[in-house]
This record gives sequence, structure tokens and C-alpha cells, in this order.
Amino acid sequence: MSPVSIRWLGHAAFQLKQGSTEILIDPWLTNPLSPAKPEEMRPDYIVVTHDHGDHLGEAIEISKRTGAPVIAVYELANFIQENGGNAIGMNIGGPAVLKNGVKVYLTPAFHSSTHGSPTGAVVDLGGFKIYHAGDTGLFGDMKLIGEVYSPDLALLPIGGFFTMNADQAAIAVQLIGPRYAAPMHYNTFDVIKQDPSYFAERVKRLRPLTEVIIPKPGEWIELK
Ligand code: ZN
Repeated sequence: MSPVSIRWLGHAAFQLKQGSTEILIDPWLTNPLSPAKPEEMRPDYIVVTHDHGDHLGEAIEISKRTGAPVIAVYELANFIQENGGNAIGMNIGGPAVLKNGVKVYLTPAFHSSTHGSPTGAVVDLGGFKIYHAGDTGLFGDMKLIGEVYSPDLALLPIGGFFTMNADQAAIAVQLIGPRYAAPMHYNTFDVIKQDPSYFAERVKRLRPLTEVIIPKPGEWIELK
């Protein structure tokens, strides 16, 4: 399995790279913590978990400029195409098999949205599996996501208010059982202010086998 590099771009936005393949997830790159500009991005694919502005972000603009397909739930994909973007509409289940053997599965998320159901996503990059939970509350079937996909890395919201908080996200780690976990969707706004080291502490207690990574916005982290 070749190594995967991940870069947190603030909020729920991540850049994933393996070899020459690059994937963007939930590219709201005008968020207050973002070190990147939408016009710098040249992804092969963009994954969007749901249509809220802080997740759809600049996906349509990036797709229009680069031609990169946006992978999203069917109704949201239609909306993206109506607005001039390129999209692959799928649904919970999957996978969508993409170039270089990349696979994307959409997973349930307990949240809201206007176009289709909100989702999470599992991205399989040559056997390294990344679960991006999207915006969601805690739910018991995260255990099933752990069993079915065995994610190497889980990206989990910890901000609370709109999503799980740090205590609930630590329970999510316990249910999923990934090798690595990283917090997201916090410190963008006052209402989702959190200390990520508290999340790390809770995970250490509930699921000591998982290593918590706390990315700084803009830093590349290589995982094997
Ligand atoms: Zn949302």
C-alpha cells in the first residue's frame, strides 16, 4: 500500500494525495482557517458530503475550471450539473470506481440538507481507506461502517452544536475502530469552539489503539 498524504484545509475540507491522484473533500476554501485558495486547486475528483455552504463551498467553481467531477448524492449532483459543474451522482452504498482504482462509497449521516440526503464518504486510495463522516450526530451504525470498510483513518466532526461534539466523536472512534482519527469541523466559528486535545484525551481513554492526529491547517501529513 503506497502512503497517503492528507492536508486539512480548515473546517471539513481535506486534500488527499496518493501518487498522482488528488482528491478534495468538502472544499469550502474561503473558510477562516483555510491556507489555500480555490483557484490553486487541481484535484482529479471532488467529494461533497452535502449541500450546506460550508461543505459544498467552491466545489462548483473548481469543477468548472478544472473539469474535475464532483461525487455527491444524486440530487446534489444534479444541482451541481444544473449550475455548470461536472458531477457523478451516486447514493449511499457504492462504490463509484474511479481512475487509478480509487473507490468512493457514500455512507449515512444524521444531519439535514436541501438536495438529497446528507452523507459521509469512504475514499479507498489503493487500499488505504479514509472515512470522512461529513456533518453528523453520533449514530450506532458507525460500528457497521467500521466493520464493512475498516477505515485506516476517520475524520470526525468535534465542534458540537451542528454535529457531534468531542465526547461523542470519541465514542464514534470507539465504534469505528480506525488506526488513526483526526478532528474536523471545529474552531471555524465561536459556536463550534473546541479544544482538540480534549478529543485526543477522550479517545486515549475509550480506544487507546487509535492514534489521534491533530492536523494544523495547511500541513501535509503522510500516513502508511
Ligand atoms: Zn451541514
